[in-house]
Amino acid sequence: MQCTKCGGRATVYLCRECIRELDSNLEQIPWIADRLTEAYAKQNALSTPPGPRHIVEAEDDEQSPMPYDRVAGDTYNELRTVLMRWCRDLADLIGVEWLPVDAVPLDFIGPLRPMIPANNTERIPEIPGQFRISRHYIPDIADLSRWLNVHRLDLANSEDAAFAAHEIDRVCRKAFRVLNPPKRVYCGPCPTVVGKDARNRPLECAQGLWADWDDDNDHAATHVECWKCRKRHNVDELKKHIYAHADHFSMTVEELLSVLDNLGEPVPQSTLYRWIKEGRVRPRGYQRDGRITPTRLRRGDPAVFSLAEVRGLMAQNEKQTVG
Ligand SMILES: [Zn+2]
Ligand SMILES: [Zn+2]
Repeated sequence: MQCTKCGGRATVYLCRECIRELDSNLEQIPWIADRLTEAYAKQNALSTPPGPRHIVEAEDDEQSPMPYDRVAGDTYNELRTVLMRWCRDLADLIGVEWLPVDAVPLDFIGPLRPMIPANNTERIPEIPGQFRISRHYIPDIADLSRWLNVHRLDLANSEDAAFAAHEIDRVCRKAFRVLNPPKRVYCGPCPTVVGKDARNRPLECAQGLWADWDDDNDHAATHVECWKCRKRHNVDELKKHIYAHADHFSMTVEELLSVLDNLGEPVPQSTLYRWIKEGRVRPRGYQRDGRITPTRLRRGDPAVFSLAEVRGLMAQNEKQTVG
């Protein structure tokens, strides 16, 4: 028999390697979920942080661009949805009612193993053993992944094994990307002239350019290729240009943070989001295909803000804290 995920030799639908990978993903999931919750809560320190079970979407979407915390929140919810679905499917398939590992129903009669008081519905992490599930229990990510891990051989035995393993692997990878975004440097809009506008002036490609970070040498890559017009640019030239004219630019929060960092005037992400939330910095438009539009054409279009305005606010803030 062949592994339905990698094609390797297997006795069930997944080979030993793929089961090991699934096992390691499932083991890391509670940790991943905690980090995502932290990432979400950190950005929302002013509002009430969510419990570990639910991350509620922020309501002020219209004002702010897609911030990091929203991405963390969305990824958390996606992770939970994926696990819920496979728990449900697998429980159906093997014909059991889904309960967290070691849980017994509330009306369970008889002593719990080991000797935890029989009326105990609280879980005591230091004491392993059975516990009565509380009336208001909502499956959390740790319980879902633990259950799947205990039943991973049942999963490997089912026809959907490869599908499940793929999906779980994909969402874990995505979470790691969210938690450890690659470092990169904003180099401004692409200056390649791609044609002429209605008034016969040169029209630039204008796609935002980001140089990769060269970890080995600890500086930005020397060249960056625009994915839109395919032109290669020298990063130093681009940076010289953008920093000389930076104050005329409007940019997204991500771009702002990168430029300010490079200018040696770093501003904490949380401060910037707070200013946006409080309306002290207002969107100058929305980014769509490298252009700035006065209104948001589609939901995902990020808002852009004036660098000069943000720098002004930073200077003001500085004065207040010093004086
Ligand atoms: Zn395999
Ligand atoms: Zn370009």
